[in-house]
Amino acid sequence: MKTIFEPFRIKMTEPLKSTTKEIRIARLEEAHFNVFLLDAEDCMIDLLTDSGTGAMSAQQWAALMLGDESYAGSRSWKRFEETVHDITRMKHIFPTHQGRAAERLLALTWVQAGQLIPNNNHFDTTRANLEFANASAIDLPCEESAKLDDDFPFKGNIHLGKLKRLLEDCHSNIPFAMITVTNNAGGGQPVSMTNIREAKKLLRGYEVPLIIDACRFAENAYFIQRNEEGYRDYSLIDIAREMFSYADAATMSLKKDGLANIGGFFVCRDDAWAEDFRNALILQEGFPTYGGLAGRDLEATAVGLYEALQSEYQEYRHATIEYMLKKLIELDVPVVRPAGGHAVFLDAASFVSHISAKEFPGVALVNALYREGGIRSVELGSLMFGKYDKAGVLIPARRELVRLAFPRRVYTQSHFDYMIEVIASVWENRETLRGLRIVKEAPFLRHFSAWLEEL
Ligand SMILES: *Cc1c(COP(=O)(O)O)cnc(C)c1O
Repeated sequence: MKTIFEPFRIKMTEPLKSTTKEIRIARLEEAHFNVFLLDAEDCMIDLLTDSGTGAMSAQQWAALMLGDESYAGSRSWKRFEETVHDITRMKHIFPTHQGRAAERLLALTWVQAGQLIPNNNHFDTTRANLEFANASAIDLPCEESAKLDDDFPFKGNIHLGKLKRLLEDCHSNIPFAMITVTNNAGGGQPVSMTNIREAKKLLRGYEVPLIIDACRFAENAYFIQRNEEGYRDYSLIDIAREMFSYADAATMSLKKDGLANIGGFFVCRDDAWAEDFRNALILQEGFPTYGGLAGRDLEATAVGLYEALQSEYQEYRHATIEYMLKKLIELDVPVVRPAGGHAVFLDAASFVSHISAKEFPGVALVNALYREGGIRSVELGSLMFGKYDKAGVLIPARRELVRLAFPRRVYTQSHFDYMIEVIASVWENRETLRGLRIVKEAPFLRHFSAWLEEL
């Protein structure tokens, strides 16, 4: 059969409140044209993020009841440690309450002002934590990633030539390099095993450690299995283990491929690193055997990590995204190709080409999708990544994307058909969209809280 169906059935439902266009127009105005400030209840289809928004399985819900809430050395911690060790094979395992807590403690313990940290593409919280430590977060995306409609299968790769040059010039000022799998900020595109291996080889020559930002390691493993020469017959867990084998440490948000609603971890091989991290963890997150999480959350993530590596699950997840992308391409809607692992990305710069980067075309498109169909998406463009020069003039982001991120195991085929219909309607009326300007903003991660107004 050609149809790939959801490898689960629904045991519990959650109602979606339906809203009218008039209501949505009013709500958006009240939210200062920033969808982060909307009430979730007013979003019929919420694609703001795939982070912590997934549905847990019956096994995960059952595991919650086994949670051991002992402060130190709980049974749930043991299960968590065994699972994370089984997948990453790292010596030291530390739970954290989210991915960014791991990033913050990493920046606190290992990063000094003025240092450089290369990555294929820093995710926004990674960048913010490094910049908060007065270090420079440097993006080195591969050549192929620049062409949004190129079908190269591993557009998440780090640019090895640029990494080599940076190491030659500045290696003593680089505390570690990172690779983010999949490349969230770069369009949800995967990184090949060859790229990770080659990057590690370069880094080893300068004794610069490699840290994998592993948020979507299982989705990345699936791409490697399907599209990289020589991995067809490997299981997803073996591919994941090989990916981690090239890393000295990893950070992860378990709200992604942990299939949980909260959680994160930091893992590493080096004893001295572990000691520094442990001390910072105790100070800021909690005792090292719970790291800011409840015992039951450790249980749920331990189950979720294995479920994310089941091939039926990955096959279905990738099929939904490919389905949507194919339909949008048929409609001529400008999208990032090929399909990423967790989201569809619209190319807002082409979609609303009459709106310049200074007027936030991505935000204009995000707002239109909300008004038209109650879909909440997120801008990954100049609102999220733009900077100011010394004169206070906006330096636009490299690209203006809108991300439709899909919560795991939440929406069904008809939800996807509805989304396609809404996007098609906005596409037809794209000339009516208007740019925006910022009225109020915070110094870090301003996209979360900024107030805007339409021009
Ligand atoms: C979500 C995410 C993070 C941060 O994790 P949180 O759990 O949201 O703090 C870091 N890196 C990447 C690539 C992510 O997608």
